[in-house]
Amino acid sequence: MRLPPLVGISIGLVSLTISVMLLGNTFFELVPDERKITFEHRRSLSESLAVLYSTLASQDDFETIELAMNALVARTADIQSAALVAIDGTTLAQTGHHLDSWTPPQGIESTLDHIQIPIFQGLGKWGVVQVRFRSNNTSDPIELIAHTWVQFIAFVGLIGFLGYYFFMKRTLRHLDPSAVVPKRVKAALDNLEEGVVILDPHDRIILANTAFLRQSEKSISDLLGTKIADLTWLTTDDQMDEKPPWELARTQNDSQTGFPRVLAPSEGQLRKFLVNCSPISDDHGKVNGVLVAFNDVTELDQANSHLVDTLKNLHESQTEVLKKNEELELLATRDSLTGCFNRRAFFEKLDSAYVLAKENGTALSCIMADIDHFKLFNDRYGHALGDQVIQVVVKTIGEVLRTGDIIGRYGGEEFCIVLPNSDRNRTIDIAERICRKIEAESGGKIRTTSGLTITSSFGVATLTSETVDPLELIDQADKALYAAKENGRNQVGFWDDQPRVAEVNASLVTTS
Ligand code: GH3
Ligand code: MG
Ligand code: MG
Repeated sequence: MRLPPLVGISIGLVSLTISVMLLGNTFFELVPDERKITFEHRRSLSESLAVLYSTLASQDDFETIELAMNALVARTADIQSAALVAIDGTTLAQTGHHLDSWTPPQGIESTLDHIQIPIFQGLGKWGVVQVRFRSNNTSDPIELIAHTWVQFIAFVGLIGFLGYYFFMKRTLRHLDPSAVVPKRVKAALDNLEEGVVILDPHDRIILANTAFLRQSEKSISDLLGTKIADLTWLTTDDQMDEKPPWELARTQNDSQTGFPRVLAPSEGQLRKFLVNCSPISDDHGKVNGVLVAFNDVTELDQANSHLVDTLKNLHESQTEVLKKNEELELLATRDSLTGCFNRRAFFEKLDSAYVLAKENGTALSCIMADIDHFKLFNDRYGHALGDQVIQVVVKTIGEVLRTGDIIGRYGGEEFCIVLPNSDRNRTIDIAERICRKIEAESGGKIRTTSGLTITSSFGVATLTSETVDPLELIDQADKALYAAKENGRNQVGFWDDQPRVAEVNASLVTTS
């Protein structure tokens, strides 16, 4: 538990006062040493007794001495026992149990409780009077408290503490910088939604408005005098390396705005602030403090995070929807066995390519492809193998085509390929390359299984100024295909006012 600063300071001052008193007493002995006085008193009493006992002893009246000793012990509470001892150690007179309680001190010296007074006869020592006083060691705490010196220290401590406390309270009220802020200004600051704190040149809080007390969940007495950096700020790694905004404002004598900071009150939720700091300087430009404003953006930040989450979810759903759309588009436009465009999608693509070529005056060609004697594969080895043949042929065609070429499944094992920007000769060349590639490479496994070689026939047609629509182009390619079939299959036919094959085929085809 932290002591209120005023109590702490008062205790400190009282301790200081008592320490100075003890130190002064050590040097100047203002308070007499009680032990020393007692010793002197006991010695002088013992000396008087020694005079009396030596007179009686000179008359050998040891009986009277003993009587006098017993009377002395009985009457004097302070004296425990006494004895008269001759120089040879013979006890001449004593009170009961003296020898038990007497612990001989070193040599002839006396101690506080053991006083010994020598008796002389002539020039020689004759004997000694021993007086045993009761010990006064106060180890009992009650007795200790009863000790005047302790009482005095306690009195100084208590009264001193109260005196310092009230005096300082009064004095500090006059010195409290926040007290000099006019009430109207304070009330205005308290009405602000923003937390406001005023710092002294050492970054200690000298004023905090109601909003900041609420935000920090602290009382004004907790905050006053506390260094603002000592509040529980959560800092990021970046913030650890940089100076806090109030320090920047103070050292650079310049306003600092928009510094994000997070405060962790002891119990409440984390508070996120945007911190603005303005230096408070005097007429000579000397910075006397900093005004710090805390704009609480906790709710805004939460709403932002929520919004970001929602946007993220939305984005994810959007991506998901786009993905699903793409899948749907694929399903709707592609043939599932080969991945080629289906008839409907193919015709759409063909229409667009046709319009573009007509508008731009660019070349556009079409190849119609049909697998030769395909029925044989189906009939001899079943539909599944037939399907594989179709897939293999499409794959081989795809390896020869360029990006931008369009291939659609026109019928069962019949495909139509549209080649934008490709003229007749080039298209025949491509068709020829596909034809050879299918014959040479396709269906190695299928050939091994069935002993049949996969071949295809092709018909090529190219857009001319006379072509009236895309269907005419396809029709011409189909007719050219038919011519290739008629001419023995596994070859390329082309439309040139009418379907042609062999002779043109041989002269036009260039090997790739
Ligand atoms: P040609 O050389 O004259 O083209 O002879 P062909 O046997 O290929 O003749 P045709 O075009 O008459 O035969 C095509 C056969 O393809 C008819 C049909 O049963 C079969 N077919 C059509 N679609 C599929 C398919 O998706 N899978 C399989 N396995 N067979 C198909
Ligand atoms: Mg066929
Ligand atoms: Mg066919």
